[in-house]
Amino acid sequence: MRLSHSLIPTLKETPAEAQIASHRLMLRAGLVRQMASGIYAWLPAGLKVLNKIAEIVRQEQDACGAQEMLMPTIQSADLWRESGRYDAYGKEMLRITDRHERELLFGPTNEEMITAILRDATKSYRGLPQVVYHIQWKFRDEVRPRFGVLRGREFLMKDAYSFDLDYEGAYLNYRKMMLAYMRTFQRMGITAIPMRADTGQIGGDLSHEFHILAPTGESGVFYDSDFESGDALGTGYDLASIDAFYQANTSKYAATDEKHDVAAWARVPDARKREGRGIEVGQIFYFGKKYSESMGFGVVGPDGEKLFPEMGSYGIGVSRLVGAIIEAKHDEAGIIWPDAIAPFRVSLLNLRQGDASTDAICADVENRLGAECLYDDREERAGAKFAEADLMGNPWQIIVGPRGAANGQVELKRRATGERSELSLEDALAKVINKALG
Ligand code: ATP
Ligand code: MG
Repeated sequence: MRLSHSLIPTLKETPAEAQIASHRLMLRAGLVRQMASGIYAWLPAGLKVLNKIAEIVRQEQDACGAQEMLMPTIQSADLWRESGRYDAYGKEMLRITDRHERELLFGPTNEEMITAILRDATKSYRGLPQVVYHIQWKFRDEVRPRFGVLRGREFLMKDAYSFDLDYEGAYLNYRKMMLAYMRTFQRMGITAIPMRADTGQIGGDLSHEFHILAPTGESGVFYDSDFESGDALGTGYDLASIDAFYQANTSKYAATDEKHDVAAWARVPDARKREGRGIEVGQIFYFGKKYSESMGFGVVGPDGEKLFPEMGSYGIGVSRLVGAIIEAKHDEAGIIWPDAIAPFRVSLLNLRQGDASTDAICADVENRLGAECLYDDREERAGAKFAEADLMGNPWQIIVGPRGAANGQVELKRRATGERSELSLEDALAKVINKALG
């Protein structure tokens, strides 16, 4: 993609409305624009990140056995009356009336809808267990939308739902999903800590939130420093790996401040006690028969008796992750994208636009890297190009100047470390491509 004709409207000045680094940087790097309070347009570079995050989420959900589907954003009020949540949900729910005076709403979550779908499709215990998910926009009319996409009103969420015949099955799916979440966040190049948490609006008995540590996080958190290192997580979903993972992650202590347990905290060695702030990027819930019973979803069991499935639900804030990752990965100069989710693998800087040798090398690099290359082909000073490449935060910069070009050399810069080296174009490309694959 060529910067001269791209909708990547970077800003030199700090936007006054943004209070925290990720919000400022998302506006300055031209990733999003606010269209109404808490409602954002995703511009091309921002959308690339959002799509890469969603794709990692999708692959790991598929790997743990969940089936992708897509439910609508608009739901009927009657569906929510069945569970009793239509009135209980309060002002966060955006309620809509259509031309026939039918009451609708923009879905804040989908427990009711998925329960109704399974109720219709599954009549026998033989059809369970089932786990399904979708990646869809949600709306919550937050009192105070703020911090950009971290607390929006319209936001993209992955939500999964599990249906099992008994507690053992539900508990297995819960632990499996927790492992899938840890693999998901690890692939994005971040450390998210699973913390015991309250169940809130969804209800139920067992819940964990996943937090990225950042001083600007809205939640106070207590955790064992062992979590900072990020264990090797393997790839399989056999019972033994799920058990070992769950044991290891729940025997250390980590909780949000609502769930802080003084006795459990006392057992963590002093040298490993950490208190800080976290951004919630996901939450999982086991809530048993809450929705299956209230909405009359029973299946016929092996002896002809009626069984109400045991359920869980599992959310990841896909759009919030974009902001949360920037909150954890930036410096004075701008964003530092982890390799797996950067909008582009490479920023290509032509230091003398119009020079035959630099233009030729850049055209070659652009061809060979394709969609992963953002080519700064503008008639701009070198200093301005350096500053913008750092601001946008793509993991590699290939810098092509006339002096190096004459000797077949380019400069390669790693954004995260600032490390620069002069090398041949072939060596630079090999490094960029290998690193991205590894
Ligand atoms: P919060 O406590 O931050 O309001 P929540 O606990 O109400 O979030 P959940 O119902 O657990 O949210 O939703 C699953 C995930 O969706 C959250 O972990 C978060 O990552 C994301 N999410 C929730 N609300 C918002 C929002 N207003 N803007 C962006 N992402 C959100
Ligand atoms: Mg939550």
